[in-house]
Amino acid sequence: MHVAIVGCGQLARMMALEGWPLGLRFSFLAAPGEDDRCVRGLGDVVEVAGDESPELLFQKLGCPDVVTVEREEVDVTLLTGLQHHCVVYPPPQAIADSQHRGREKRCLNRLGITTAPYRLVDELDDLPAAVGELGYPVFIKACRNGYDGRNQWRLSDAQGLERFMAEQAGLTDLVVEAQVPFEREVSLIAVRSRQGDLRCYPLTENRHRDGILISSIAPAAGLGDGLHEQAQWIARRLLTHWDYVGVLSIECFVAQERLIVNEVAPRVHNSGHWSQQGSACSQFENHLRAVCGMSLGATDPLQHAGMVNMLGDLAPADVLNQPNVHPHLYGKSSRARRKMGHLNLVHGDRAALEQQLAAIVAQLHPSG
Ligand code: AMP
Repeated sequence: MHVAIVGCGQLARMMALEGWPLGLRFSFLAAPGEDDRCVRGLGDVVEVAGDESPELLFQKLGCPDVVTVEREEVDVTLLTGLQHHCVVYPPPQAIADSQHRGREKRCLNRLGITTAPYRLVDELDDLPAAVGELGYPVFIKACRNGYDGRNQWRLSDAQGLERFMAEQAGLTDLVVEAQVPFEREVSLIAVRSRQGDLRCYPLTENRHRDGILISSIAPAAGLGDGLHEQAQWIARRLLTHWDYVGVLSIECFVAQERLIVNEVAPRVHNSGHWSQQGSACSQFENHLRAVCGMSLGATDPLQHAGMVNMLGDLAPADVLNQPNVHPHLYGKSSRARRKMGHLNLVHGDRAALEQQLAAIVAQLHPSG
């Protein structure tokens, strides 16, 4: 079976690496000028010229059986056009809804899923009123193209707002969110097959710095049964709403025994990378199994697992060579804050894993 992936980054790479043993072949659709280093050697790369019909792109991609995505910033019209030629999963509607923070939040709330209180702001002039209603501190986020802390600002007082209005004149299409006084951040990686079977990986606890994921640990410890039930309910609600096929990632805040959804990503996710070593069937394999019409693999954890991102640079040899550390390098050239790779750690003993994870985080990300 031939799978075409829209995007050429590390998520596409890791899907392909796990798809080859399943007998899958791959091609990749690159945006104009997109760096394809992560996927070189794993299948043909086709660069979009911009004026091709979906039919021509389908042919250039080698007539795939399935088209899937590694990112949400994709041309949904192209995806719906490709649906005339092959199956496209996740459903383009789910991708369209999660491309825009405002649309996503409205969708979540309509399904009864809790988010941070928010206001949508089309023009910067309307910002003071929205901030006035929510109260400081607030997060201001661009509705589109915001990831890894980009296009996102936190304002803590009126002076900050004034400065922001002066510096960011011309900004439009924003969501303003009240700050959630969260105790922890967790994510849920769920997968649904073409037949409608649904499985969830255990909730993963995530640590961010400046909006970017630093480390994850799974299963998240010490969460009450109520939170696990809420997570299952949220996943079922969203995945069935979209008649979803593939992996869906749901990032949440935990506050007073409640899950508050921050963001949804219609794809495999950085916070699920631990599943490569920590689960019988990783998120990448399960995504492919789902979109290709196979039955799903087990999502149970094998041991305690941790993940640390390598940002801007690779880890030194003394970290890479630890016997239970599994490096995943993406083949990118280095740049500040860029995700260059990650390390997965597995251990039978929770306390030992936590200690090792903390030591590696302190070494790789010393400022926090
Ligand atoms: P996001 O880009 O929405 O994933 O946000 C990146 C990170 O910023 C989150 O993982 C949180 O650590 C923090 N953050 C974003 N929105 C809020 C909020 N409304 N309240 C508290 N923290 C937030």
